[in-house]
Amino acid sequence: MAEKKKIAILTSGGDAPGMNAAIRAVVRSALYFDMDVYGVQDGYFGLLNDDMRLLSAGDVGDIIHRGGTMLGTARLPEFATDPAVRHQCYDNLNKRGIEGLVVCGGDGSYRGARLIQNESNINVIGLPGTIDNDLAYTDYTIGFDTAVNTCVDSINKLRDTMASHGRVSVVDVMGRGCGDIAVHSGIAAGAEAILIPEIKKSDNQWLDYIVQKLRTSFSRGKKYGIIVMAEGVYHAPKMHHFTADYIASWLNANAETVGHRVDARGCVIGHVQRGGSPTASDRILSARMGEEAVSLLREGKGDLCVGIVKNRIVTVEIEKALSMKRRVDKHLIELADILAR
Ligand code: ADP
Repeated sequence: MAEKKKIAILTSGGDAPGMNAAIRAVVRSALYFDMDVYGVQDGYFGLLNDDMRLLSAGDVGDIIHRGGTMLGTARLPEFATDPAVRHQCYDNLNKRGIEGLVVCGGDGSYRGARLIQNESNINVIGLPGTIDNDLAYTDYTIGFDTAVNTCVDSINKLRDTMASHGRVSVVDVMGRGCGDIAVHSGIAAGAEAILIPEIKKSDNQWLDYIVQKLRTSFSRGKKYGIIVMAEGVYHAPKMHHFTADYIASWLNANAETVGHRVDARGCVIGHVQRGGSPTASDRILSARMGEEAVSLLREGKGDLCVGIVKNRIVTVEIEKALSMKRRVDKHLIELADILAR
């Protein structure tokens, strides 16, 4: 009888809601195809420490609705820099006869995946597990929809207080290089202004834009204002002072430019964006992508990452995926602009 095919899965880098649903999908699909599947603890760290175990269908029960990752995640900088570390990882996989590995993480994890593919005989498939939506080859990453919903939920709650006090909230959301969380949550929350790192403006240009937007809103009778900014805006060179609190203080000190009484506050939503039960959309995305990853490994394919484009599951070479540059959706920015009048 032919030996069962053996694969492994790990989650790596920043955790994202839906990683558990992806683990479940990979394990259940692998078992369906009569493959053995190992769960590696704490990303590349578990590969190095030989911390992996066979998973059963029951082991991944009751996790579909949970945020975080049952396998844990970690950062192991030596994986990138020390070939001996990586070769220990390959030995630990080889000694079990594991021939395929699913890596669920962001672009850093994909760089690690590319090394494994190039340096060992193990086929690697990437699943985009990151809330930032910053991988250009896919329309959506696992966890993005949940993060956007968390932001919108928080802004809805802020809205109650803003409306009662006639306040302006400057809401800081995640996204260092990619403003998608800000754009999507800004549109869904009905924000006056959305600030993202892909649009290059000086602090004064951003302030002018915010003032114009608030003036328009106040002049049609709105009593409060919502400004959503991606953290990447103040991570840019020379912009480190330009935080949500700074913008709020500036608005308070320059109310006459807005032409209205202003009571502005900064609000950093922070790490709650990473957590929480994944939305149905993220769970379905994880299910579809997880099953695809297993199908590819079953066919002996590797060096690919799974994405979704126009609601179709696609696969792209890891190298190509990493080299693609994300473009901001200009139409969405214009839409936000049109609707915030
Ligand atoms: P994310 O996957 O969310 O982008 P990180 O950038 O922290 O998160 O990467 C997760 C892990 O992937 C790192 O701790 C490291 O082990 C590995 N990694 C990151 N960058 C590289 C690289 N250039 N080459 C090889 N491995 C890398």
